[in-house]
Amino acid sequence: MENNLDPTEISKFDEWAGEWWDLKGGFGLLHKINPYRVDFIDQRGRLDGKKVLDVGCGGGILSEGLARRGAIVTGIDMAEAPLGVAMRHARESRLEIEYRQVTVEAMAAECPGAFDVVTCMEMLEHVPDPASVVAACGRLVKPGGSVFFSTLNRTFKAWMLAIVGAEYILGLISRGTHQYKKLITPGELATWCENAGLMVVEKCGITYNPIFRTFRLTSRDLSINYMVHCRPSAAYR
Ligand code: SAH
Repeated sequence: MENNLDPTEISKFDEWAGEWWDLKGGFGLLHKINPYRVDFIDQRGRLDGKKVLDVGCGGGILSEGLARRGAIVTGIDMAEAPLGVAMRHARESRLEIEYRQVTVEAMAAECPGAFDVVTCMEMLEHVPDPASVVAACGRLVKPGGSVFFSTLNRTFKAWMLAIVGAEYILGLISRGTHQYKKLITPGELATWCENAGLMVVEKCGITYNPIFRTFRLTSRDLSINYMVHCRPSAAYR
């Protein structure tokens, strides 16, 4: 495979690009969880003044959150339309973010070890070879830096709530966004990290309380959406 990307996935995100910043649209949940994930990353990666690469940045929800914490952000994605949306939105928000259409593997070949922090959120479940993305993130981070991943777990609960519930019943996420078989367990992600010379230092679930309509981060429940914090293992280098 020349490029580790699935053209059907890319055209889906191209098609939906117009609703990226619509708080009530198909990316509404990303807007809701964004403050929690930006806090999680900032507390561990100390973003102010750091060079950050946001992999699979889409329309820039996370990239902007990181830039607002003082990070010098580069966002990369392979879908053109969301990148256009991201560039326009950053300009309107007076944020300086560099956006590029390039694969993470090409980026790793171009500038290995160039970033203090690498983030790759809600993207791994959309690529044909997620282990290759994890490996590239491992090459892009500086020694002593941090890599953050987030994805959906492959559990019955995630299928019920995130796919059937959020996509098909409530319409909170655009229909067809996720395919069950492409979801990723924390064990699989940990193995790919290990093979990439990344040490998983923390795992954290994002849970939703439907009664109070609030989100919460907890290390006790990784059954649906979860984040992982990794550091390059010294022994590997
Ligand atoms: N990370 C962002 C957006 C998640 S949506 C956030 O959490 O807010 C998933 C994104 O991954 C889309 O923008 C899609 O275009 C991108 N994507 C899918 N396959 C990709 C690939 N092979 N290379 C780069 N980006 C990809």
